[in-house]
Amino acid sequence: MEPLYSVFFKCPECYHQIEQQAKAIDNAIAAFYEESVPRPVANSILGNTVYCPNCGDRFTVAIDTNAATVPLFLRK
Ligand SMILES: [Zn+2]
Repeated sequence: MEPLYSVFFKCPECYHQIEQQAKAIDNAIAAFYEESVPRPVANSILGNTVYCPNCGDRFTVAIDTNAATVPLFLRK
């Protein structure tokens, strides 16, 4: 069986927690919250349609390019 990661989102309509599965990049079991998803995991679910089982709405997984903070580093 293929290992999967869990990525948890909060429904923007009803705040229900929604789990989206992502292809694992190693054999570890891992879970992430939408605020901090490793880039390879994020890339693997970008554009996916997510269904909220509570309110029945559908959403598309997107990167927040207007995020107030972004990771920086010093490259030599
Ligand atoms: Zn909902």
